Amino acid sequence: MNRLLTGMIQVIQEVDTNTGFAVCNEKSCPTMSAGRYVPINEHYCFTTLTSSRLTYTWLEGGRPAKIPAPAYITRVQKWIVGKIHDPATFPTDPPTSVASTAFASGDTSSPATYSTGPAIAAPPTSLSAPLSQLSGQQNDWVGKSSGFPPNFHADVRSIIKQMFRCYAHLYHGHWESPFWHINRHLELNSCFVHFVTVAMYYDLLSRKDMEPLQGLVDIFVGQGVIPREAVQQHSG
Ligand SMILES: [Zn+2]
Repeated sequence: MNRLLTGMIQVIQEVDTNTGFAVCNEKSCPTMSAGRYVPINEHYCFTTLTSSRLTYTWLEGGRPAKIPAPAYITRVQKWIVGKIHDPATFPTDPPTSVASTAFASGDTSSPATYSTGPAIAAPPTSLSAPLSQLSGQQNDWVGKSSGFPPNFHADVRSIIKQMFRCYAHLYHGHWESPFWHINRHLELNSCFVHFVTVAMYYDLLSRKDMEPLQGLVDIFVGQGVIPREAVQQHSG
């Protein structure tokens, strides 16, 4: 999913030989902006309601900062790659060793346990587990059975949210130029449909976060390109 988005981002990072700048540069896109799209025809052309134009900010030293779109996108890409390769988020060890490490330490709240804790060969045993774990439910989380840490769901949600923002900028800032002009707009659509279908099906994106491209999503849902099942699973 990240590979598809990266491919589309590369389109706007391509340097225009006439100007010597990337299509998406600090002058063309001084902020990471998106808007609310109102579809005006069947070619998915959009007008933007400037009144509801929104700008994404990046947290810098705990404070939101408006940075140019290309810088924002580069940071998102680096951050996502870092997350994907972070064993605390996506463990590379087999589930049993993750489980035994977690149980042995008795500290399921610290994600660092997964990356720094020693691999314990002994199988997980209920005798060494804290009482709270024996009682069930309390320590259940999405992805637990597959060996993913407790913060897994929240991490995936924040990755999806940032990826969505990149799509919002691609559509808002670059739908016409370059995508439409170089005839790659349908490719952008299919990457976005794939992304948003997965995000909705696994309920990883809030309705509020989806708002900047809601008009587009509605069209794809109406056309059946985004399957009904995904819509039904999406509670927002
Ligand atoms: Zn841009």
